[in-house]
Amino acid sequence: MPLKIPRIVMKFGGTSVADLDRIRAVAKTVKKQVEAGCEVSVVVSAMSGVTNQLVDYCQSLSPLFDPYEYDAVVATGEQVTSGLLAIALQTIGIKARSWQGWQIPLKTDDAHSKARIESVDSEALIECMKSGVVPVVAGFQGVDGTGRIATLGRGGSDTSAVALAAALKADRCDIYTDVDGIYTTDPRIVEKARRIKAIAYEEMLELASVGAKVLQTRSVELAMKEKVRVQVLSSFEDSPAAMEDFLPGSLVVSEDEIVEKEQVTGIAYSLNEAKVVVKNIPDQPGVASAIFGPLASGNVNVDMIVQSSGSDNTTDMTFTVPKTELAQAVQILENERPNIRFKEMSTDSDVVKISVVGIGMKSHTGVANTMFRTLAERSINVQVISTSEIKVSVLVAAEYKELAMRALHTAYGLDAK
Ligand code: ASP
Ligand code: MG
Repeated sequence: MPLKIPRIVMKFGGTSVADLDRIRAVAKTVKKQVEAGCEVSVVVSAMSGVTNQLVDYCQSLSPLFDPYEYDAVVATGEQVTSGLLAIALQTIGIKARSWQGWQIPLKTDDAHSKARIESVDSEALIECMKSGVVPVVAGFQGVDGTGRIATLGRGGSDTSAVALAAALKADRCDIYTDVDGIYTTDPRIVEKARRIKAIAYEEMLELASVGAKVLQTRSVELAMKEKVRVQVLSSFEDSPAAMEDFLPGSLVVSEDEIVEKEQVTGIAYSLNEAKVVVKNIPDQPGVASAIFGPLASGNVNVDMIVQSSGSDNTTDMTFTVPKTELAQAVQILENERPNIRFKEMSTDSDVVKISVVGIGMKSHTGVANTMFRTLAERSINVQVISTSEIKVSVLVAAEYKELAMRALHTAYGLDAK
């Protein structure tokens, strides 16, 4: 039986193709995989800074620019790098050609400037690879139903790569970037943060505050839906052979591919929340809906909630909303005051939400308790708690951000050796 030829999509971000030297280095990395016997399709971003410049041009001419023309402008960054990388590959003896979104075609809806992918035609690309030519695909772009160029939202070439990997049924989608993987937490806050070797899609989505800049969220959602294995790698380090058992970087995969499920995989934080306390409300059925109904109608996103009832037949409701929606939330509640019948309301924006995340929580017990004990030992007061199947979040005073995150990182055994 002939051995199956591994098929890989390799995606290079803006810093990886920032100048001609970097593009030459990328060409060498691609060559290595081709010579290792893989079928390779490449996806590129624009040179770093280029898309920002193009967006600026549009905004300078008109803040209310036509999104169709915006897409025609900003998609050019990727057109340039796809052609340049094809030339760089040809120069070192690798057959290659560029592909624009419309040529594949990669079809999108008509939500210009943030279009969603509707389908990717894999036929032409497969034929291209089979004939020994490496397709170099311009990321971030596609074509709408009427034939006009559409782009996928900032950071969208990650999503192009994942969609392509799904359509090509690739063994892996390698995302080359300027960091060497996904970390247990923000290394600028916790020095002992370490690289995660394998992380589940759900965890990656929950750890957005740690990893959001590494992969576009939409690309992770798509990878989860299509079960695309995503390897995050640094293009600034020596690249591995394609199918080695051990790869550097971080692998983002489905839960069942992760053998060792730690109770906690990573720790995230958010400074984007504010706390609202509504006090002394008559304790009777319908209190929660009197508060959260109007907030929902006003499009205020409520995240964490606790209700605490006193002995005097009144109750307090504490919850969090995005800081940007705080003023609106307060106004809505003041308007509803005769209906809710609360005595007092207070708010606090000086808070941080810290979340510990791990699919291992489904099978380990005591994860939340470790969190509460660790914080209590540091005399850090927990103001609000919320939990989900793979996450425990607490709200604490913002001044404890560093202390709490470092203590938790140690408590869950995440510190680098
Ligand atoms: N060049 C686009 C951007 O800067 C797409 C990408 O890099 O993923 O947003
Ligand atoms: Mg990016």
